[in-house]
Amino acid sequence: MPNKLCACVVRIGFSLWLLAAGVLAQSKPAADLIITDAKIWTVDKALPNAQAVAVLGDRIVGVGSNADVDAWRGPNTRVIDAKGKLLLPGFNDAHVHFVSGGMQLTNIQLNDATSAEEFARRIGERAKITPKGEWIQGGNWDETKWTPPNMPTRELIDALTPYTPVFVSRYDGHMGLANSLALKLAGITARTPDPPGGTIVRDAQGNPTGALKDAATDYIDKVIPPLSHDQRVNIVQRALAHAASLGVTSVQHMVASYEDIAVYSELLQRGELTARIYAAPLITHVDDQAKLGIGHAFGGPYLRIGALKAFADGSLGSGTAYFYEPFLNQGNNRGLLSDEMQPISLMRDRYMQADAAGLQICTHAIGDEGISTILDLYADVIKAHGESDRRFRIEHAQHMAAKDFERFAQLHVIASVQPYHAIDDGRFAESHIGHDRASRTYAFRTFLDHGVRLAFGTDWEVAPLNPMLGLYAAVTRATLDGKNPNGWFPEQKLTVAESVEAYTMGSAYAEFQEKEKGSITAGKLADMVLLSDDIFSIAPEKIRDVTVLKTVVGGRLVFDASAGSK
Ligand SMILES: [Zn+2]
Repeated sequence: MPNKLCACVVRIGFSLWLLAAGVLAQSKPAADLIITDAKIWTVDKALPNAQAVAVLGDRIVGVGSNADVDAWRGPNTRVIDAKGKLLLPGFNDAHVHFVSGGMQLTNIQLNDATSAEEFARRIGERAKITPKGEWIQGGNWDETKWTPPNMPTRELIDALTPYTPVFVSRYDGHMGLANSLALKLAGITARTPDPPGGTIVRDAQGNPTGALKDAATDYIDKVIPPLSHDQRVNIVQRALAHAASLGVTSVQHMVASYEDIAVYSELLQRGELTARIYAAPLITHVDDQAKLGIGHAFGGPYLRIGALKAFADGSLGSGTAYFYEPFLNQGNNRGLLSDEMQPISLMRDRYMQADAAGLQICTHAIGDEGISTILDLYADVIKAHGESDRRFRIEHAQHMAAKDFERFAQLHVIASVQPYHAIDDGRFAESHIGHDRASRTYAFRTFLDHGVRLAFGTDWEVAPLNPMLGLYAAVTRATLDGKNPNGWFPEQKLTVAESVEAYTMGSAYAEFQEKEKGSITAGKLADMVLLSDDIFSIAPEKIRDVTVLKTVVGGRLVFDASAGSK
């Protein structure tokens, strides 16, 4: 009996399917989702403004007026009434550290501490609730917010953390502070030499203060127990939920580990990826991807690999960005080339290998000479292998030499920049490098004027993941200290439209996906975000307060503020 019943149901199902197929043959299929009565900024120059959009499966099938799109409506179409709110393509963050970002959501918070005492007190509180054997990590402390703004030392926290190893990072990720227990576990003593590309900060007697710069942090990284697979899955799930709540529908994960990629792959198979991921492991692993022969942007709509992340130098705040001329008030210090650049020919060899394998290269470069040196190397690769659509990237591209804007454009290098850093570093950049160099710092307008393509991102966990802060920063250039309400180097401000384009199409182009996403265009993936306010018409200083109402990825509603889903 049960078998007979089953067969019958199958037969009825099959007849219905035939019937549906017959109807389909005569008219177009109905949309799964229609968003109607929106104010749509499409980022598609062929049709910049629209009112409604229809989605079938994971793709956009119709964009136009309410009436145009209503033709896609069927009995089972889900309709979202946008009530006149602004709908944009989903944000694509071109530079994140997604797992560190996810960890930060649970880690100790030190960034808003306003004094060394507050910094120490929070670490002491955390030590009380940290299980035995676990480290206190993260923090993103920023001593420039303290009075006086002195670099912290291990003495501040040792008495509060006798049994808990501590290694808390500076917000720029180029320096950390270890307590004495952590130094001991890492075997760092007065006799430990500085590694190439790194500094163990020492006191007058030559003893480590606990502060470690750049490659010197590797000593500590080696003794911190690695995350388990389950911990990593949890962290990525939290990061995905956070991204969805902010309208971030694609992320480009710089310095992804293979363990991270394994987690993404598992979540992809479970259908749980709610943001699209392009993962770039370190270029020191170039052999692995070169061997696979996969080339750039290999994979599917939710997960791609085929890019490599390299490091040319350090950061401005840590005094390790590599400049032609010294920092102000830092003696002869003009920064450091990274250990990957010791010697520079080592990086050139890796670039040649990566490029020959068709892999994309994304290089962190911040100081003017660091950037210039990477442009030289990119030019060497183009000369050796000929012109092709390789989309070299420079990540951050912060402090440009005047001569290099033109070269940036000629070599078709993408400037992958983080506007939030501009309003953050803008607080102290001039005191570190002076007015002239600061005038070519985060020079977004000058890049566009030279025809350089911009991709926007955040560098999360270094800065918040919220795209509204990035748009606010690019449009206002109002530094976080409130001292430049009309903009720090205001001639470098971008319009809202330019900023949105850099955060959508610009980032899509930077990962070879401009035909698949980056605009609300029929045929593209249905990744969209509905905002609480119209960022084109509100006062620019209000952009940072705008929130996300709904986030759609591949036609799926992955965040809905009205449902309270987080
Ligand atoms: Zn980064």
